[in-house]
Amino acid sequence: MSDVRVRLAPSPTGYLHLGVTRTALYNWLTARSGGGSFILRIEDTDRERSTDEFLEAIITDLRWLGLDWDEGPEVEGPHGPYLQSQRGGTYAPFVERLVQEGAAYRCYCTPEELEERRSARSADEAEAWKYDRKCASLSRDEREALERAGRPHVIRFRVPGGKTSFVDAIQGPVEFENDQFDDLVIARRDGTPTYNMAVVIDDMEMRVTHVIRGSDHLTNTPRQIMMWRALGHEPPVFAHMPLLFGQDGKVLSKRRGAVSIGEYRRMGYLPEAIVNYIALLGWASESGEEILSLEQLADEFELSKLSRKPSTFDPDKLVWINAQWMKRLSVPERTERLLPVLRDEGLVAGELTSEEREWLERVVDLIDDRLKTVRDVLDFDWFFLASGVTYDSMAVSKVLDKPGAGEILAGLRKVLSDAPDFTTDALETAIRSYAEEKGVSAGKAIQPLRVAVTGKTASPGMFETLSLLGRHRVLARVDAALELSS
Ligand code: GLU
Repeated sequence: MSDVRVRLAPSPTGYLHLGVTRTALYNWLTARSGGGSFILRIEDTDRERSTDEFLEAIITDLRWLGLDWDEGPEVEGPHGPYLQSQRGGTYAPFVERLVQEGAAYRCYCTPEELEERRSARSADEAEAWKYDRKCASLSRDEREALERAGRPHVIRFRVPGGKTSFVDAIQGPVEFENDQFDDLVIARRDGTPTYNMAVVIDDMEMRVTHVIRGSDHLTNTPRQIMMWRALGHEPPVFAHMPLLFGQDGKVLSKRRGAVSIGEYRRMGYLPEAIVNYIALLGWASESGEEILSLEQLADEFELSKLSRKPSTFDPDKLVWINAQWMKRLSVPERTERLLPVLRDEGLVAGELTSEEREWLERVVDLIDDRLKTVRDVLDFDWFFLASGVTYDSMAVSKVLDKPGAGEILAGLRKVLSDAPDFTTDALETAIRSYAEEKGVSAGKAIQPLRVAVTGKTASPGMFETLSLLGRHRVLARVDAALELSS
């Protein structure tokens, strides 16, 4: 185990979407590539906007993607996650210490008073107004008088003068003038810490070594660094990832209807493909290889190699990567991944017997690598599973109603009923020699048979399909088609 400790700190105020998943993945890879730890900390102190449903969804989706975390209280199985709402007692002593040491102070100004002082300025000044530090220098007597009057207070951090600079692991050197920052509120009237304070205390308590997050947090970082130092610690390494854009050129965000991981799952994407594609939104393998498993990514990943340039999410590329992963799965594995979709659609019920599974695997093998997503399996109509066949009227008029089609079909019926073996190869030989005998191309002979057996003009390979359906069903369907065409 190395000393690297990283964390994902999502707020359960929405589903897990692509941006947070990228943050999760890069943190996870940083931990896994160096034998460090990955912590999941749910920032659920915004009780109004946090819900259990979002929390459950985040946990389910991270697990489904294979982004497991290493530690946490035993709230759900052995590994957490940490919930900020359950760490209520942790923060007050730190805040109190800052007050004792003069790095923070009690502020009794009411929101109305603040607004009055702000709006007394010219429009431009009001816009840039920062807290005027009225309470920063209250005498003890003044403070006691306010306390006696029952005035509630917040706690503000006293932003020091000078500059705050740090070397971001992705962005390089960054510097901020401290005087652009307000003396920010670090504890509310009810004593609960605000975001910046809670994050600093949690990261400190959890011994986080690298804070890897979106660049939307970049202006929080100098404030957090000041708080780390005020608490007597050196801050961790910060790494701010460039923005992620949608194809409309706008930043992808959960507030703008970005698709959640749960939705991708329902659309039939594989977790392997999602993490693979997301990894490439800001990082590339030196080998140029684009199809990489989590293990391979963890082997090659380096935080310092992340791009500073923003990336654009390309849904077509995700489909392509998904199709590559579909092809890589073995037939039994692919069958396993398709089963939930087939069950949802009522095409498979209950547990499969070993014969049924074998049969389904043959079907999946027959569909071969034509599946781009798991749900594409539904495009194959499952005429194999259905007890009957529905004839497409266009297919009937274009093929079965053609002169000579009935005759070919009747001839093929005999070939099929006489075939000693109903295997793919034996059927192919028998049907081809029949076509030759009749002086027609194999394609021409097969087409009426295809419509007879599948109801459509397009299907997977005919010989395999026939073999899969078995003699009994094939003959019944040919008979039904002969009725139709006569
Ligand atoms: N809870 C914050 C968010 O969801 C993350 C904070 C952080 O990574 O420091 O944006």
